Amino acid sequence: MQVKKPGQRIQHRDTAVHGCTDCRKQWGDACGVFGIYAPDEEVSRITYFGLFALQHRGQESAGIAAWHPLEGMQLHRAMGLAFQVFSEQTLRSLIGDVAIGHVRYTTTGSSVVADAEPILGQGHFGPFAICHNGNLINTHALNTMLTAQGVEPAGNSDTALMAQLLSRSSADTLEDAIAEMMSQIEGAYSLALLAPRRIIAVRDPHGVRPLCIGRLGADRWVIASETCALHTVGAEFVREVEPGEMVTIDARGLTARQVIEPTRKACCIFEFIYFARPDSHIYGRSVYMSRQRMGHLLAQQAPVDADLVIPVPESAIPHAMGYAQVAKIPYGEGFIKNRYIHRTFIAPDQRLRELGVKMKLSPLKEAVSGKRLIVVDDSIVRGTTTGPEIQLLRDAGAREIHLRINCPPIRYGCYYGVDTSARADELIAARMSVDKIRESMGADSLEYLSMKNLIAAVGLPKNNFCTACFDNHYPIPIPRELRAAKVGKQPVGEQR
Ligand code: SF4
Repeated sequence: MQVKKPGQRIQHRDTAVHGCTDCRKQWGDACGVFGIYAPDEEVSRITYFGLFALQHRGQESAGIAAWHPLEGMQLHRAMGLAFQVFSEQTLRSLIGDVAIGHVRYTTTGSSVVADAEPILGQGHFGPFAICHNGNLINTHALNTMLTAQGVEPAGNSDTALMAQLLSRSSADTLEDAIAEMMSQIEGAYSLALLAPRRIIAVRDPHGVRPLCIGRLGADRWVIASETCALHTVGAEFVREVEPGEMVTIDARGLTARQVIEPTRKACCIFEFIYFARPDSHIYGRSVYMSRQRMGHLLAQQAPVDADLVIPVPESAIPHAMGYAQVAKIPYGEGFIKNRYIHRTFIAPDQRLRELGVKMKLSPLKEAVSGKRLIVVDDSIVRGTTTGPEIQLLRDAGAREIHLRINCPPIRYGCYYGVDTSARADELIAARMSVDKIRESMGADSLEYLSMKNLIAAVGLPKNNFCTACFDNHYPIPIPRELRAAKVGKQPVGEQR
């Protein structure tokens, strides 16, 4: 992929810092993207700050690609968190007028530096770099098509596949090649692309993953997965990239092209429950306030007499505060979180998983001993960490433990860029009734937020969202072979 042209030099540095094989709260979100058009600014350093703000979306690898009129395309990417991947020296060396960056959690491909993003490409229209948040669902068909054309599919990830489709396009511009590619690919994709003198933002026709545009000044623009990254770099929110839209930003400003007319919006509802940072806005709605309202409605839906409401830190804090406000029960801390452990280790057996929970959370004995607790969490996926958490509270002397979960039971896998579980039968709610889950976790009671209240908390009609991991209604039809590979044993009588 490294084709040199005068003034179009490609410098490509892959560095192995370290590899992680753990996941965050058993949910792996599928990456964050950032892009900047700002001649005369330190675009790589601003991108680095943007990636910092998006770090919660992926912790396995990070990368930045920058373009400079004399230096051409430059790329630095490595395994690890943004602060591990970039040094002062690397940031100084990535010079340019435009840049894109990426933080990754693997949902397709492998967790190796070769699959870290951005990925460089070379079309006959010139060099480009691409990074992606989401997941394509028709990679099998696309790879078959390439193979039939005598082309060996490159790389392991769906992003590498997109780079290959763009590189092979006979279109005259990168924008036309992207439009052509959008007619071929299916699934969830929020893309940031880099080309000489411009950046391009693209969102799939359902808008499954968020993507927004901000302004740093009269002729300086940024794009980001979440609005929290705009605020971090001092940019003002302009608007979201619309589903099916491609936006080019260059010296002329912003040019929008509606490539595919959206049939129905389907933003992932889990962005509101857990993935997005609480200070972000999606569809113009505050993620933080939506989470508080989930807590309000759960307190109305599933009240219980207790002494203290505690969150499972940190993601469930707004939900728990909301619950406590409406329940009129004191809110407090029951766990202290070790902030230096980012994720719960995937450990080979239950004993090591329990140790992983202990490394991450310590019960606050003085706060919980002798108390009737309402423990608020945002979600339960496999359910392997909740039981040990409850046991920690019991060991610390809690008298009663009432578990309140701020979404419905997760019973179906995600195909759109979230690693809920390799197979649906690993999701605890796909295998057990709510009462069996309660019993297996050792809680005195367990209640989940209803779908009706979840939607009411976000405050927009349900048909704006993907809710498939709760109700099996996938807004983008899943190819049979993909479903067969992932479905496992669906809940009896609920196969679709
Ligand atoms: Fe989000 Fe669930 Fe839909 Fe995946 S299936 S996009 S996690 S709502």
